[in-house]
Amino acid sequence: MTLDFSYQPHPIRVVFASGASAGVAQWVETLGCRRALVLTTPQQAADGEALAARLGTLAVGTFAGATMHTPVEVTERALLRAAELKADCVVSLGGGSTTGLGKAMAYRTDIPQIVIPTTYAGSEVTPILGQTENGIKTTVRGEKIVPEVVIYDPELTLGLPVAMSVTSGLNAIAHAAEGLYAPDRNPITTMMAVEGMRAFFEALPVIVKAPRDVEAREKALYGAWLCGTVLGQITMSLHHKICHTLGGSFDTPHAETHAVMLPHTIGFNAAAVPQLLAPITDIFGGTPGQGLYDFAKSVGSPLALRDFGLSQSDLDRAAEIATRNPYANPRPIDGTSIRALLQDAWSGDRPP
Ligand code: NAD
Repeated sequence: MTLDFSYQPHPIRVVFASGASAGVAQWVETLGCRRALVLTTPQQAADGEALAARLGTLAVGTFAGATMHTPVEVTERALLRAAELKADCVVSLGGGSTTGLGKAMAYRTDIPQIVIPTTYAGSEVTPILGQTENGIKTTVRGEKIVPEVVIYDPELTLGLPVAMSVTSGLNAIAHAAEGLYAPDRNPITTMMAVEGMRAFFEALPVIVKAPRDVEAREKALYGAWLCGTVLGQITMSLHHKICHTLGGSFDTPHAETHAVMLPHTIGFNAAAVPQLLAPITDIFGGTPGQGLYDFAKSVGSPLALRDFGLSQSDLDRAAEIATRNPYANPRPIDGTSIRALLQDAWSGDRPP
């Protein structure tokens, strides 16, 4: 083995414990802040209010307008509210959409962020912000985007619906899987990727049967931290590019799209780098594509793009968009091979 790498972790304080979110006030104060604005989606508004109540005088209000794909108009409204309330930090409670809003605010103002994740998306530990303006989704990276504090509290995930737990978990596994062959991977990201995938392999089947199993929820959230951290340190390839294309141009649901595409993109790349993807075989069995497909099926994941209403001509266009700009991928890609891959994912066939 030849070692040749560069490694730069992000300076994030990670706190992980059941019940840890009860200590959020301490982290507001540690950051030197006194006027927190709590962010949530409309669906989690009541949880946001409860969190603000727990913060007492350290909270100046809530903004329950976070939504998928981080539209710039929503960010502007949230910034206005933060300015009116003279907020000096945000506490983002929720999944990737809420985290995205806090990151979008920090990108513009450097306002400190505390994130309390309630899904497995992993955005809280990456320097990546995806946002949409006039229907176009763009991605930016930067240190200001990185949250200061992340509080992982497995208790807050006990009520994450099973279907969302499964797709969000597969979304996380996708971060780790692409980390295994990323050109800028390093021994730490590889270790985290393997440990993170194993955590989900063990936790998801239990969660499907017993959604409130505390140990399984803890393991899954631990996996989310590991897989998200991998995503935050590596260059994404084919899998993330295709999912970005499908979500950005065809409005397919984020985590579900990752779940459906994962066996196909990883199966495609396995032909080029079987050694690098061997940990997937070790964990999931079969070939990398088949192992991931069988696992996804066993936990009740959606398996076919056609279930999202995509047509054959959408697939033509998606293949064209996804191959328009070159990017790092272990196996050379071209329009024909990506179109065939999309067709398999559309049908929901088991990959070779
Ligand atoms: P989400 O944040 O959109 O959440 C989906 C729905 O589930 C929302 O209504 C939310 O309020 C609700 N929800 C969240 N947690 C819940 C819980 N514990 N119980 C009940 N309901 C709950 O979904 P997501 O998959 O976490 O995030 C997707 C978004 O995150 C996308 O926009 C994606 O682009 C982004 N993302 C970004 C990165 C990054 O590094 N920038 C990484 C992953 C995902």
